[in-house]
Amino acid sequence: MDPNCIFCSILTGDLPSAEVYGDDLAYAFADISPVTPTHVLVIPREHVAAIEDIDQDREPLLGHLLRVAAIVAQQSGISRDGYRLVINQGANAGQMVDHLHLHVLGGAVMGRMG
Ligand code: AMP
Ligand code: ZN
Repeated sequence: MDPNCIFCSILTGDLPSAEVYGDDLAYAFADISPVTPTHVLVIPREHVAAIEDIDQDREPLLGHLLRVAAIVAQQSGISRDGYRLVINQGANAGQMVDHLHLHVLGGAVMGRMG
C-alpha cells in the first residue's frame, strides 16, 4: 500500500467507491468520471505503479486482471455488443493515477483510437 495513492485508499476503504467486482487479487469499481455509459476500473490489490513495473513474477497477476475485466464486462452486460480495454501508460497517454488500472469501456459505439 502507498499512503499517497488514491486507489490504495479506495482499497483500504478510506475513500469510497462503487464496487463492481472483488477477489483476493483484484478489485473493480465505477470510474468517478465516466467517459462511456459503462466505465469500470480494474486494479490489483497490490500497489503496482504502472504496467512497466510488471516483472516476470507478476505476469500471472496481469493475466488475472484481464480475466477480471472480461468478467466485469459480462456482468455489466456489455460483452455482446463489445467493449474496449485501456491502460494509459505515462504522460503522453494521460495517466493520472500511478496505481496500475485497466479501464473497461462500453455501452456505446466508440470511435477509432488515436
Ligand atoms: P488514468 O488517466 O488512466 O490514470 O485514469 C484514472 C482514472 O481514475 C480516471 O478515469 C478518473 O476519472 C478515475 N478516478 C480518479 N479518482 C477516482 C475515484 N476516487 N474513484 C473512481 N475513479 C477515480
Ligand atoms: Zn496504490
